Amino acid sequence: MYSFDVHTVYSMCVSMYSAVWSREETTERNYYTRYHNMSEVTAWMEQMKRENPDVVSSMVYGQTYERRDITLLKIGLSSTGRKKAIWMDCGIHAREWIAPNLLLDFYQQILRTYKTDTKVNEMMKNLDFYITPVLNVDGYIYSWHNESTRLWRKSRSPGTGGCTCYGTDLNRNFYANWGMVGVSTDCCSQTYCGTKALSESEARAVTDMLGKMSEDILAFLTIHSYGQLILVPYGHPNISAPNHDELMEVGLGAATAIKAVHGMDYTVGTSPDILYYTTTDPFSGSSRDFARLIGIPLSFTFELRDKGEHGFELPEDQIQPTCEEAYAGAHHIITYAHNKAFYRYAATSQQHCSLGL
Ligand SMILES: [Zn+2]
Repeated sequence: MYSFDVHTVYSMCVSMYSAVWSREETTERNYYTRYHNMSEVTAWMEQMKRENPDVVSSMVYGQTYERRDITLLKIGLSSTGRKKAIWMDCGIHAREWIAPNLLLDFYQQILRTYKTDTKVNEMMKNLDFYITPVLNVDGYIYSWHNESTRLWRKSRSPGTGGCTCYGTDLNRNFYANWGMVGVSTDCCSQTYCGTKALSESEARAVTDMLGKMSEDILAFLTIHSYGQLILVPYGHPNISAPNHDELMEVGLGAATAIKAVHGMDYTVGTSPDILYYTTTDPFSGSSRDFARLIGIPLSFTFELRDKGEHGFELPEDQIQPTCEEAYAGAHHIITYAHNKAFYRYAATSQQHCSLGL
């Protein structure tokens, strides 16, 4: 139904890195090979808007507990036809610093090539990309504070009922079988699910946005680390997605694309099916599960490198290869989603051959 050449994508990847490095501009040579604090992520978003005013806009769609803006970039070419959407978010867990890097890397590549690459151009005409580089802004900033806060995971809202610990696990706080499995009601726990579903303003912001857009979103990708996994809905062991076979097929295709780049193995499945090496095992209340529950057909969690050797503190020399392989995996899913939606329309207008994204 679709074609995908990972070697072509990888070559494109490499050539685009070269293109970045050959330019003299505000971003230094190693910008995409080091981690970025929140100020730098915000500056990057501003730069993308400034350099690509016709295709990039931003939107504040919520506020964190500490009243910081939650901002997304919308990236796409204007079109007279009805566009579909791809959602990507990162930084829901503060300490997973590789995740925002992936998004920055992914979209600088797309923005640098859409004018010259007919396939990327076609994708930008048919799809709008809604990308949130950092969702848990408070936690992310806190994780950059000093060495002792580097591994902060949760939001920064204070505990209730006399609990003196801070933070709720935002990826246990969504209205998706909330509080049922793989969560803690101890506010000091890393997997504390909050006092109720959507108790956290960050989870409410995503929920509201997805609710407005759900009919148009073809794919929902939420980026985490670590573990080298591609997780599909659902995290609850007794519930299965109606298109489970499709999710697995597309997820396995993404894992194959990833492996072709640097030989890394990514495991695909639901969290109950995968022998998850952390304490999380099956878990409910995730944004991935919520996205599928409200009808978004393709919903995936990427858990990027590694498998535990360095964990959340992945060395910076692994940023580039991690982004290269994840690019191939995400590209596979987006290509599938695009072709499934638009080949049907294109076939009626005899243009389907030009849409081999
Ligand atoms: Zn995570």
